[in-house]
Amino acid sequence: MFEELSDKLDGVLSRFRQRGVLTEPMIREGLREVRRVLLEADVNFKVTRDFLGRVQERALGESVVKSVSPGQQIVKIVHDELAALLGEGRPTIKWVSSPPTILMVVGLQGSGKTTTSAKLARRFAAEGRTPMLAACDLQRPAAIEQLQTLGRQIDVPVHAGTFGGDPVATAKAAVDAARAQGCSVLIVDTAGRLQIDETLMDELRRVRDGVQPQEILFVADAMTGQEAVRIAEGFDQALDISGVVLTKMDGDARGGAALSIRGVTGKPIKFVGVGEGVDDLDSADPERMAGRILQ
Ligand code: GDP
Repeated sequence: MFEELSDKLDGVLSRFRQRGVLTEPMIREGLREVRRVLLEADVNFKVTRDFLGRVQERALGESVVKSVSPGQQIVKIVHDELAALLGEGRPTIKWVSSPPTILMVVGLQGSGKTTTSAKLARRFAAEGRTPMLAACDLQRPAAIEQLQTLGRQIDVPVHAGTFGGDPVATAKAAVDAARAQGCSVLIVDTAGRLQIDETLMDELRRVRDGVQPQEILFVADAMTGQEAVRIAEGFDQALDISGVVLTKMDGDARGGAALSIRGVTGKPIKFVGVGEGVDDLDSADPERMAGRILQ
């Protein structure tokens, strides 16, 4: 995660660290290097520009130049602003007082929706909650079977619709089943496509309106960089998502999607997928992620 970005930023910032004295032109020059590194890491152009604006304002304004260790202070400013770019504190889920809390998981096919649904169920069970999974991607028999297999593996009940059936009716029936079985959280896995299209968005809107979820989590493949950000915008406009799960962060050395998605959509990253296994899900802690970038 972030290895390439981390190495390059370290290279640029170590020049700051080594200097005992820093002048304003040196700071401006160094921050231009940081800008280049972020753009190479596929961070959104506007996000990069705003980020550097904030860093520069603080670096030139907080009497950094006159301080005892100006280089260290600039590194700290970059760290703080990276964390701010990623989010505000550890994200939470809106739990309801009368269960089940309903989470709808949406995203393109192959982004990691079904795997993420199972990972979330696993995590909630470990926290002492009683999850149920709902298989509402009824366009591909393999998707229903995949969730059922994962459900068995993690010992979580799966309410599945039938291939070709109505996802709205299935989702509503799953809510009834979760309530009847006393499950505290229902995770609704939905259909995906290879690209955003109106038929998909219409189906997802109908599922949303049918079950009124507390959370709509958009699952994005971090490896696809700015494409993931563009697709997040599309899903947010159509569905008003409540948060993002960035998957395949274990393979994302650049970090473009991670650093841009909140700045572009305004929606927080809530979880990150860090592998194919059912336990490979972390909560998205901005401080920790910024710490991984600036080790
Ligand atoms: P869906 O079509 O959106 O439901 O996607 P799947 O859940 O079937 O995932 C597609 C592929 O991505 C599968 O091979 C998963 O094992 C893999 N995958 C999902 N999340 C992660 C992750 O965080 N890291 C890695 N390395 N692979 C992942």
